[in-house]
Amino acid sequence: MKTDVLIIGGGPGGAAAAMFLIREGITPVILEQEEFPRFHIGESLTGEAAQVLRRLGLEEKMNQIGHPVKHGVRVYGTNAANSWFVKVSSRDQDWNLSDSTTWQVRRSEFDHMMLQEALSRGAKLIRGTATKALPYDDGSLRGIVVRRLDESEEEVETKMVLDCSGQATFLANQKVTGPKYMGSYDKQVAFFSHVRGAIRDTGTSGEFAPNNTHIFYHKKFHWSWFIPVDQEIMSVGMVTP
Ligand SMILES: Cc1cc2nc3c(=O)[nH]c(=O)nc-3n(C[C@H](O)[C@H](O)[C@H](O)COP(=O)(O)OP(=O)(O)OC[C@H]3O[C@@H](n4cnc5c(N)ncnc54)[C@H](O)[C@@H]3O)c2cc1C
Repeated sequence: MKTDVLIIGGGPGGAAAAMFLIREGITPVILEQEEFPRFHIGESLTGEAAQVLRRLGLEEKMNQIGHPVKHGVRVYGTNAANSWFVKVSSRDQDWNLSDSTTWQVRRSEFDHMMLQEALSRGAKLIRGTATKALPYDDGSLRGIVVRRLDESEEEVETKMVLDCSGQATFLANQKVTGPKYMGSYDKQVAFFSHVRGAIRDTGTSGEFAPNNTHIFYHKKFHWSWFIPVDQEIMSVGMVTP
């Protein structure tokens, strides 16, 4: 198989990249190893992520689906002795920063919507796992070996590879790009669950809106999150050193 652009990973990064390419007249192939919808952690979008969705024309769709609107993050200090509110903000075309809103998402639903949207705009999907990079002698890539769902192997030739494999960092592991450096923020463990019945703020917007993120800081590298992923369910997680 031959393509101009192969995107490894059909998560929101890969799907958004595909939609931007399609806008420029390039039809990419997305390679995804998992069946969507699938669980993923990372549910509280930033203001900039919301701007990307707006640029892709997805604001109306996000609101129609009913993803909770996030106005900001309340951070509680150690022992909840104090707290402060960080507003969601985003930049416009002229790089001016202003208050904004974004969304909380149940990732199975959001990632599925993003991938389907990329496909409906023209991207092609192949199901399978990238297993090996195929370099030319000068180190640039000529393609990728893909293991399909039936365990058969296929070479996909491509002019360009976008590594959107998330934490799997496919190209770094294949030593195509530089090594993966672990920072001090990469050494924590997160425990998380989805719970029903959490009490929310009752305001209508801004600081006391019901669907903001709450972060409880205990000490460096040790904190927890409350993220409402829909009208009923709260994502609760704890990060520990
Ligand atoms: C505990 C935790 C909490 C987080 N909380 C937040 C948060 O609140 N807000 C936030 O913005 N971010 C958060 N993040 C980060 C967020 O999860 C990621 O930034 C986001 O998922 C990245 O999206 P992506 O599309 O780049 O990668 P992913 O969503 O991980 O998608 C990568 C895709 O690539 C596929 N793939 C991987 N390897 C291969 C391969 N070899 N072949 C084929 N397919 C492959 C995978 O199946 C996957 O579907 C959190 C992360 C963690 C670990």
